[in-house]
Amino acid sequence: MTRTTTTIPARSAAAFDLHAGDTICIRSPFGHQVADFFAFNAQDPSEYLSARHSLVSSTRHLYPRAGQTFLTSLRRPILKFVEDGANERHEMLLAACDAARYALLGVEGHHASCAENLQNVMAERGIIVTEIPQPLNLFSSTRAEPDGTIVTHPNASEPGDFATFLALMDCIVVVSACPFDVETQFPVNVGGPHPIEVEL
Ligand SMILES: [Zn+2]
Repeated sequence: MTRTTTTIPARSAAAFDLHAGDTICIRSPFGHQVADFFAFNAQDPSEYLSARHSLVSSTRHLYPRAGQTFLTSLRRPILKFVEDGANERHEMLLAACDAARYALLGVEGHHASCAENLQNVMAERGIIVTEIPQPLNLFSSTRAEPDGTIVTHPNASEPGDFATFLALMDCIVVVSACPFDVETQFPVNVGGPHPIEVEL
């Protein structure tokens, strides 16, 4: 089967249709850039990849790791993380950025966000997303310290880092090239935002 590579421009998102058995590879061509990763049951998008349900009933680990199976909000297998080419720099600790986060950081006027990107690409399919699921934050250097404090270290992901997932049910995967660019103590994306590539 021919595979196609899609470039998601910086600050934007794209949706991909996967059948059970398909693999999808998310790649960071420039590094230092977070990709927010969401997935929904293609038949009923009210069922979605749930980081928290996965943590309880499958992964039992704070961070996404190769070999883990992720579950939906109904605790059914949706995707397996099959290959990690990013030295385990992923997390699911931080909510997707949204308009309110940028307003809290002092941004005036509109600022693109992963939440809005998700809603826009799903709306193009006629699917209204009101609750933003906890994303898998791929290529992120945010970590929980031993005392429980959450620290966003400067994004250390490297050019060419990738993560590959296997679909375990027909699903819609949404990938957002995180638009975070506010000068703060949160170096989510370093030197970016940058585009993200998806191979399907
Ligand atoms: Zn974001």
